[in-house]
Amino acid sequence: MAIDGPAGAGKSTVTQRVADELGYLLVDTGALYRAVALAAQRALVSWVDDASLGALARQLVEERAVELGSHGSSGFTVKLRGEDVSLAIREPSVSQGASKVSAVPAVRAALLDMQRQAGAAGGVVLEGRDIGTVVFPDAEVKFFLTASVDVRARRRFDELRARGAKPELAEVEREVAERDLRDSTRPVAPLKQAADAHGIDSSLLSIEQVVACIVAQVRVVEAELGARP
Ligand code: C5P
Repeated sequence: MAIDGPAGAGKSTVTQRVADELGYLLVDTGALYRAVALAAQRALVSWVDDASLGALARQLVEERAVELGSHGSSGFTVKLRGEDVSLAIREPSVSQGASKVSAVPAVRAALLDMQRQAGAAGGVVLEGRDIGTVVFPDAEVKFFLTASVDVRARRRFDELRARGAKPELAEVEREVAERDLRDSTRPVAPLKQAADAHGIDSSLLSIEQVVACIVAQVRVVEAELGARP
């Protein structure tokens, strides 16, 4: 199953609940791009140095240096070279970095096989920007989750405050809009709804309503697949 959409659409929370309810494994592909951005920051590699970023991403994949763990009380665990970086990769600077490094074709190529392997066994929900269009264009069921920029910025703002940060709402709005623009206008695998994805605008819906809608549609597809000879 593929769930794509822009930053702050509620994808992470929704996807986790959907995965729990259906007993699927969750793969947060944004965490991979975030881990590459963090590794680059630490290695003093610029987020716009395409050649070095590509080499770094390939190296991380070869070394199996990025591990996506299970969901715990503090969220999804992500390790970089054995170190728990679950919180470090959520820093606003790394969010912007992830959006920049993810526009580099060599970085996307390096992470592609890893994502395909993670989803190959089935019973998996992959969450990202290009899962339904590029990573798994043949996914059995696809969703594109979005919400208005105002709503998404407000959610990100609340999330940052809940974590103890003191962001400015206007600044968060600017960052969300900037990331949207970069993600949807990049030449390689831009953020866009797959033609066969179910679109859900969560602006006026609760998390429970979105989860219920997705779970219901997946159950229909599961029943259809199960009924096939
Ligand atoms: O989903 P999340 O906000 O964690 O993703 C961080 C960044 O990684 C996004 O802004 C996007 O640029 C990039 N990304 C991507 N393709 C994916 C998942 C994330 O380009 N499949």
